[in-house]
Amino acid sequence: MHPSATLVINQRSKEMIAAGQRVFKLGLGQSPFPVPRPVVEALKLHAREKDYLPVKGLAALRREVAEYHRRRDGIAARPDDVLIGPGSKELMFLLQLVYYGDLVVPTPAWVSYAPQARIVGRNIYWLPTSASDGWQVTPGHLESLCHDDPDRPRIVVLNYPNNPTGGTYRASELRVLAEVARRHRVILLSDEIYGELNFRGRHNSIACYYPEGAIVSGGLSKWCGAGGWRLGTFLFPESLAWLRDAMAAVASETYTSTSAPIQFAAVRAYQGGLEIERYLHASRRVLRSLGRWCWRRLSEAGLDVPEPKGAFYLFPDFESRRERLAERGVQTSFDMCEQLLEETGVAILPGSAFGRPPEELTARLAYVDFDGARALATVERMSPDERMDSEILRRIAPSVVEAIDRLAEWCSS
Ligand code: PMP
Repeated sequence: MHPSATLVINQRSKEMIAAGQRVFKLGLGQSPFPVPRPVVEALKLHAREKDYLPVKGLAALRREVAEYHRRRDGIAARPDDVLIGPGSKELMFLLQLVYYGDLVVPTPAWVSYAPQARIVGRNIYWLPTSASDGWQVTPGHLESLCHDDPDRPRIVVLNYPNNPTGGTYRASELRVLAEVARRHRVILLSDEIYGELNFRGRHNSIACYYPEGAIVSGGLSKWCGAGGWRLGTFLFPESLAWLRDAMAAVASETYTSTSAPIQFAAVRAYQGGLEIERYLHASRRVLRSLGRWCWRRLSEAGLDVPEPKGAFYLFPDFESRRERLAERGVQTSFDMCEQLLEETGVAILPGSAFGRPPEELTARLAYVDFDGARALATVERMSPDERMDSEILRRIAPSVVEAIDRLAEWCSS
């Protein structure tokens, strides 16, 4: 395995900062918002919890997570269907370890699915998508994959809202994808970790349309701003209980159980309520306004960027700049990101890190380099129909706005 492009760009950013240069960190995808107050209070209250907990998770938390999926997604989830783990990433790894099939990953995709498959020795099948479809999986893509080799055991990953594109699926699109998956009895791993960060608060789970074959992955990392707390959740269909149990068996011989105080605090997070809804509403408002502002600015600069619908990423394609970039010796997305960093201080990640061909001039940027607590406070003082214009955005996210300005100017220079 090689050190990732992410590490190379991060290392170079550090060197530049150490040399006194300004760096705009649009590489790392971490929630900018603080953990909601009631959840922090719950953690304080349970700091003394010290016992090992059940390997599948604290009973009260499994109950609350099932209730959350019933309430939010309309899925007939039972506490028994829930598995808690130290981050959804670890749960995905366990899934690949215990399941013998191929892993099908649509590109572009989050950086860790494929390396995990490689570590456990699974075949990876890259499912191509195209810019003209907004990098989304179409029913045609899924159909031709299954049609060509119908009996092959496989897990197909779907991730929406998506890292790295910020795109998501409409309910009607999920319904058709679910029909294809059902026809071919495909196991779907539906990575919905950014579900609550659908900009309109209207996330749909494909498990509503394919309850017998979709595993829903989630956790506290994104919507609750608690990536470092390490708490992930899987929701299984009843028919895949054997997978859940096999994963729990491996968990019992590796991490034993997820941190006890964190699980008690997560019970509070999944209970929801007014204060958490307000927090989510304000988080979505900030991300929607900033994401759309960045999208418009980059589109006006001539880049091909799908409009973001959730999460905190954009995936611009610099193809329209290929000739100009070639004159400067740039042939790959990695060269492009290195040169952008050197010349403007803006750190973004090459499309090749997300499974795209190296010569394709795509890149991911995460617009989260701002003070989330301050942004939430600003939104709370605004009236519900007041627009977050560029002046407000410049105040709450000055580094992001300046980085996007620099990027847009770099494109036209
Ligand atoms: N899926 C996606 C698409 C992600 O972006 C991330 C975090 N970067 C994860 C899963 C993993 O999240 P965690 O392990 O913190 O639950």
